Amino acid sequence: MSDATFKIFRGSHQIGGCSSEFRLGEHRIIIDFGANLPGTENVQIDDNALVETVFRNDNDIIATDAVLFTHYHGDHVGLKCFVPKSIPIYIGGTAKEIMKIIASRVDFRNEKTGAAELPKMPVIERMIPYPTGGTELNFSGISVTPLYIDHSALDSYMFVIEMDGKRILYTGDFREHGINGDVFERLVETYVGKVDILITEGTMLSRTKETAANIVKTEEDLGCEATKVFAAHHENVVLVSSTNLDSIMEFYHAVPDGMAFLCDAYQAEIMQAAIKAVNKGKYRYGKNIYVLCPDNKKAYMHDLNDRHFIMADKTKYDEKGFIMLARPNKPMFRKLLAGLHDPHIIYSMWSGYLKGGKCEDKNIVDFLSGHDDKEHLTPLHTSGHAYVETIARLIEKTQPEVIIPMHTESADEFAEVPEFAAYKDRVNGLRDGETYKIG
Ligand SMILES: [Zn+2]
Repeated sequence: MSDATFKIFRGSHQIGGCSSEFRLGEHRIIIDFGANLPGTENVQIDDNALVETVFRNDNDIIATDAVLFTHYHGDHVGLKCFVPKSIPIYIGGTAKEIMKIIASRVDFRNEKTGAAELPKMPVIERMIPYPTGGTELNFSGISVTPLYIDHSALDSYMFVIEMDGKRILYTGDFREHGINGDVFERLVETYVGKVDILITEGTMLSRTKETAANIVKTEEDLGCEATKVFAAHHENVVLVSSTNLDSIMEFYHAVPDGMAFLCDAYQAEIMQAAIKAVNKGKYRYGKNIYVLCPDNKKAYMHDLNDRHFIMADKTKYDEKGFIMLARPNKPMFRKLLAGLHDPHIIYSMWSGYLKGGKCEDKNIVDFLSGHDDKEHLTPLHTSGHAYVETIARLIEKTQPEVIIPMHTESADEFAEVPEFAAYKDRVNGLRDGETYKIG
């Protein structure tokens, strides 16, 4: 009798905050250990309870051969500091570099403010980068092949897992409409093929109306639209997640001739790490990147080694017109925005954070106040997650006997989606904490 099992600790019926387990006999691996997204409804297991559930006692710690992170979004890595020190942790090499840039600032700030949070850097320092090129890792009979996949976090992975004679695809968050999405089909054909079980994210199942109404379907569309908007306005202020590198690079490459591109040193450092990592021409230097330093202190530039980064000087960019990546939680950008004559906002984040949205964000709402009418704001955003058509094609290409949805608010409706009709009898929804026998 088989003793291979799969369990979703949290994330079977919600977006984010996820963590799962593959177990074979006395050994197990954990995939992701995420914090709940702010505003998550129907929270049955809060973050503290998740930590206690996943690592109840010494036996749980001894049994865990590894914690594997799919990518750096907080709803997948947010509880990383609570992974016991003896357990190896894995993530993509570039993802690790980006997390280090973020952690150096967060730890520094918390030290200054005396915040009671655990320091982030030590746990990131000990993360092991995934091997490249479809090389498999083996954890006491659980084989894992990490596959680099397109998502709104750079350097994300899905996993082919083989255990007890079964082949499983665990997608994590993914899509195929980003800058690296064009290789999706080939990747699935080459490294995945037929599987017994498909465990797939389904974020967009509850957002199909948003998708239908959005003219920006792909990151490439976003770049094309951005060029038009930038050319029509002199002071362009872009709100985009600082780690959504595909969108950031599209905005950067869309800067019209004669205009300047501005961001702060933190954002510039993340761009530098990303351009260094994605060197096939998809991410590349173009125009100079003017770096905004508070009080004009060059010290903020110390980690920017490339000649394309230049300290911003108002006299140089003000006349030309500019595209500025702004961060609503930073006072510097609020001050800059207040000093502009007629700014145009390009809003490139999920609409749920806006006023009256599902997950209203106070910083964003305050920043946009007075600028959020149609004349002064253009929404330009594409989802980080797979559209229904992409999931349907993945199902067709992998021909799973069993489909387990997760990272979705619509797990119970998965089998009713018209695009999945031919496979509806194979859908096997799990509850959080339910043990699924793989064999
Ligand atoms: Zn994600």
